[in-house]
Amino acid sequence: WIDKWCWRGVRLLSIVAMMMDYMLPKRVMSWKEAWEIYFEENGGALFKDLARYGIKMPACAEQIRQEKDHLSHQVWATFYNYGGATDFHTWMPTEDEMQWLSQKYPDSFDKYYRPRFEFWREQQEKGNRFYNKTLPMLCQTCQIPMLFTEPGDPTKICYRERSYKGNKYHFCSDHCQHIFDNEPEKYVQAWLPVHQIYQGNCFPEGADPTAPGFDPLAAVLAYYRLNVGHDNGEFEGSEDHRNFEAWRGMAKSND
Ligand SMILES: [Zn+2]
Repeated sequence: WIDKWCWRGVRLLSIVAMMMDYMLPKRVMSWKEAWEIYFEENGGALFKDLARYGIKMPACAEQIRQEKDHLSHQVWATFYNYGGATDFHTWMPTEDEMQWLSQKYPDSFDKYYRPRFEFWREQQEKGNRFYNKTLPMLCQTCQIPMLFTEPGDPTKICYRERSYKGNKYHFCSDHCQHIFDNEPEKYVQAWLPVHQIYQGNCFPEGADPTAPGFDPLAAVLAYYRLNVGHDNGEFEGSEDHRNFEAWRGMAKSND
């Protein structure tokens, strides 16, 4: 039980990791620092205490330790790419922010993520802001896009699959696959948004996917009543951006 919910909780926290490192106007600490303080140190002390009852540190803790250098960057990169399908803005970090990330992630940011982000920023400045027009595969268990990499190899997407009663299911990790294996009847029922969209269950009334030039992404955003370009897409130059600039100007101090 502890293994399962530790992993499910941490997969959900990958969204928080992205928020902490990329979205906060004033960063307090990095995801990696937070994980080290609140889980590895504090949680580690708790598990040492619980050892007397035979409760051990969850097996997934080792993989989480390896992922902490990569998690927030991989999630932000994915949401940036799919920024046309999100219901919030995304952007590339400024040079100041990249320096903060380099300092907080000396073993991973400059090597794996800075070059990619600088390239995307350069493309954006040339007017080629990239949007992926498809939707990402979701993990059957955690329902998060399959963006995570193999333990020990941050350049290779981790991908697992299982057949169950004639259908194929996909997983982001060994841990999510094990959780499925233990309760397949529960997880086969998962209502995965991307699957539903591609099955045609999320189009507005009267939409005709067979019509020439039909744009499935535009149709699903209309179904979700998203105001395209206003509610999503690039942050630079958006109404949110202009509002933040105005509010910053009103503040006495933003240090
Ligand atoms: Zn998963």
